[in-house]
Amino acid sequence: MPKYKPVIGLEIHVELNTKTKMFCDSANDANETNPNTNVCPVCMAHPGTLPVINIEAVHKVIKTGLALETKINEFSWFERKNYFYPDIPKGYQISQFEKPFCEDGVLKLSSGKEIKIKRIHLEEDTGKLIHETQNIKHKTQDQDVSGSMFHASSYVDFNRAGVPLMELVTEPNIETGVEAKEFGEEFQLLLRYLNVSEADMEKGQLRIEANISIMTEESSKFGTKVEIKNLNSFRACERAIDYEIKRQAEVLDSGEKVAQETRGWNENEGLSFVQREKEESHDYRYFPEPDLPPVRLDKAQIEFIKQEIPELPASRRVRFTKEYSITEKDAEVFTVKKELGDFFEKVVTELETWLKDQYITDEVNHKEIIKLAANYLITEIQKLLAESKTKVSSLLITPEDFAELITYIHEGMTSSSIAQEIIRIMFDTGQDPHQIIEDRMLHQISDRGELKKAAQDVIMANPKPVEDYKKGKVESIKFLVGQLMKATKGKANPQMGEEILRELLK
Ligand code: ADP
Ligand code: MG
Repeated sequence: MPKYKPVIGLEIHVELNTKTKMFCDSANDANETNPNTNVCPVCMAHPGTLPVINIEAVHKVIKTGLALETKINEFSWFERKNYFYPDIPKGYQISQFEKPFCEDGVLKLSSGKEIKIKRIHLEEDTGKLIHETQNIKHKTQDQDVSGSMFHASSYVDFNRAGVPLMELVTEPNIETGVEAKEFGEEFQLLLRYLNVSEADMEKGQLRIEANISIMTEESSKFGTKVEIKNLNSFRACERAIDYEIKRQAEVLDSGEKVAQETRGWNENEGLSFVQREKEESHDYRYFPEPDLPPVRLDKAQIEFIKQEIPELPASRRVRFTKEYSITEKDAEVFTVKKELGDFFEKVVTELETWLKDQYITDEVNHKEIIKLAANYLITEIQKLLAESKTKVSSLLITPEDFAELITYIHEGMTSSSIAQEIIRIMFDTGQDPHQIIEDRMLHQISDRGELKKAAQDVIMANPKPVEDYKKGKVESIKFLVGQLMKATKGKANPQMGEEILRELLK
């Protein structure tokens, strides 16, 4: 059997988070649940109305293009894409065809692979069709007999009609389902950093279509491609692509040809199914939109937009590992969870001030304390946030207080189990750690006399391990230290506890 090479290209639609729609001043609000409220004569295509270009949307597309290193077309225009479907009131969609705003870019995956971007253009979204089927009771006129009949209704909600929609098209240089998933996730993160879209797939703010074909390894010509729609998550995208590669290989192995078509993905059953034959671009009869002027952008405008681009995920990863000497894995968490990473940076600033005040200048201590802060944020704080379903932005803990607690842990003033308890109280109440320790007597017991008394009790209560230890089984001390921690409810200073136990058992 011949070996095949998969060829994959993605088309990704993104709803931009502008205040108003693409060509009118109706609100662009993805959370509006009341149907047909964000509408006006323009987006409802009443005769005599004219569209006006939303500059904010154009800026957001250019910003995305610049972040993806695309060429920006300083002269471009909108075109009419004709098709007739009830979710589009005008009978055509205003889109771009010949001259998109952005062409030829690149997005680097964490593996180092560069995925090429063919184009990014701007268009308008369609309304939503809602199909409902129900059994309804009906009464005949002269009989009081209720019968049941099957009734189907279709509705259109135009709230989404005319919302700015950015479409990114990649070159077909993606080779696996995993790569497609990684591209989608990295692009989503970038959109959020750029603040051009919330890019929530569940809300349909980011939608992926995958084009897949396979070719034999020696071939120089691409195979026939199939387009897969309704991929509701990045995971679904990965699975659908892997499934499709296998399906096409089986078709070719059996001596048949792959049909050019659009397929849907059934996530529950894990398989794709034929939806329709793929239309060609000439089916849409594109032509320049006569109701809108072409768009001219000058270099100064593009430069201005460039200045608005913040630090992007790729540079942040590198900076975090270098600047804070944390692992790549931790840097990844602080990049994907941006707010948590921002909080971490504020904590580090506090800690650096503290280190200076303490005349601690050596690098080992410096690195250790920062690592401690990173660990506690990634484990404890993330756990508490997840449990309570809260966002970092509504944390009651301030970076100052968090840094203070980290210094206590670093100094050995509190054990890790007490630290956990303190963090929980800080998380719930916003109290400062010093106060919590005072109020609840959560001090670690570093009082020799007190510890000695507790250690003596532990020795009395555990004759067997004590005997083992005395006979030379040194690891028994660990058990005894554990018992001491238990007896003091985690408050014993473990090093001091072990020292005292060893002394008593001499
Ligand atoms: P169409 O005009 O059919 O929509 P495009 O050239 O616009 O095709 O490409 C649509 C998407 O399909 C792009 O992401 C592109 O990279 C991808 N693509 C093009 N040819 C192939 C192929 N043979 N196999 C897989 N993907 C392809
Ligand atoms: Mg296309």
